Amino acid sequence: MNDEWICGRLGEDEPWTLGAVNPPVFENSLFTFATAGELGEAIRNEDERYVYWRGTNPTVDLAQRKLAALERGERAKCFGSGMGAIAATISSLVSAGDHVLVLGAVYGPTTQFLRYLEKFGVTHTHVSDLAECDSAIRERTRLLYFESPSYMAYAIVDIAEVAAWARGRRGLVTVMDNTWSTPLFQKPLTLGVDLVVHSLSKYVGGHSDLVGGVVIGPSRLIRPLALTEYQLYGAAMSPHDAAKVIKGLRTLPVRMPAHQERGLAVARFLAGHPGVREVNHPGLPSHPGHAIALRQMSGFSSLFSVELATDETDQVAIFLDKLRHFRIGVSWGGFESLVNAPALTTEESVRATMGIPAGLVRLSVGLEPADTLIEDLDEALKAIKGVNGMTDRSSREKDLSPQVHPN
Ligand code: PLP
Repeated sequence: MNDEWICGRLGEDEPWTLGAVNPPVFENSLFTFATAGELGEAIRNEDERYVYWRGTNPTVDLAQRKLAALERGERAKCFGSGMGAIAATISSLVSAGDHVLVLGAVYGPTTQFLRYLEKFGVTHTHVSDLAECDSAIRERTRLLYFESPSYMAYAIVDIAEVAAWARGRRGLVTVMDNTWSTPLFQKPLTLGVDLVVHSLSKYVGGHSDLVGGVVIGPSRLIRPLALTEYQLYGAAMSPHDAAKVIKGLRTLPVRMPAHQERGLAVARFLAGHPGVREVNHPGLPSHPGHAIALRQMSGFSSLFSVELATDETDQVAIFLDKLRHFRIGVSWGGFESLVNAPALTTEESVRATMGIPAGLVRLSVGLEPADTLIEDLDEALKAIKGVNGMTDRSSREKDLSPQVHPN
């Protein structure tokens, strides 16, 4: 079973699809039963039997089977958003008095959710490496949560090393957000991670018309979550959104190499541009985590950050306003190129604690021609006070040509 077949065909030749080229979308909120006994039996196994759409649905099931196969996991459960998946997953693993370790920078609302859990007696500690994990671990530490590449900084975590460390600590459960890489470019479960979460709203959906999430892992961890948090939080994925996930997966193996190529072309251009201090893209050989990234990833997506050569937020705003092809907006991973700047959306004190400089800008490179995007960026960079355009880009690009795996 290769990934392209999983994306395009897995589960689609079964009798229930009647040969439809796109599998049917089951729009019914409930299923009926021939006898009371059959209903009772279905309810006792509601994580696997079709009873009510808040718990199970055949179209959602197909999306789940594909995502589980792509990540090489036993089971997957799809949610109405990435945050739905993250909140339900963390909740399923902790009780009052428990403690969570958070390694490296993670998506802001994930941290907000962990803070929210404090009112139920669950605490957490942010750490930056395994040595800090060793000193921060407590008797009641239940899980270690992380992303790689990390949020906004795109730092690389050695996934196998972290998973082995956690296994050696009374089987601490590891949960990793793999949204950046998609299940095509990185498979953390094969490196020893226990549970993987994704926002499907990014590259997997790919068309900026879907909000969804998923958790993938062994049945022993997914089944209790499916029977409890999934049912009780009510953050179920709708069958219509599952159909969009299935459509997104059909083209994911074609879109991701295109995102990779365009993202790297733009990153290479920006590295060394006089208007840019730093490019945080793990696909560039100059990135501190590049060697580990090549070992554990088979490709690079096209979301990264750059630090502009300015400390003034009004200059960052001028840069954003000048862009014509990059659109200003939140989210990422769609067909359209997007730009966002934490300095314009996050309070200065919060930014300081997260170590985010005023000039940091996040770029999500879409599927437009790279040359168009590069010209757009060059023009906008020239608008920053004290910055001139790039004169000789060819020599710089050659120095930084990345070693990318073929897919
Ligand atoms: N994880 C990461 C890394 C994200 O960037 C996001 C959203 O931006 C999420 C999770 C949450 O996903 P959603 O917006 O689908 O709830």
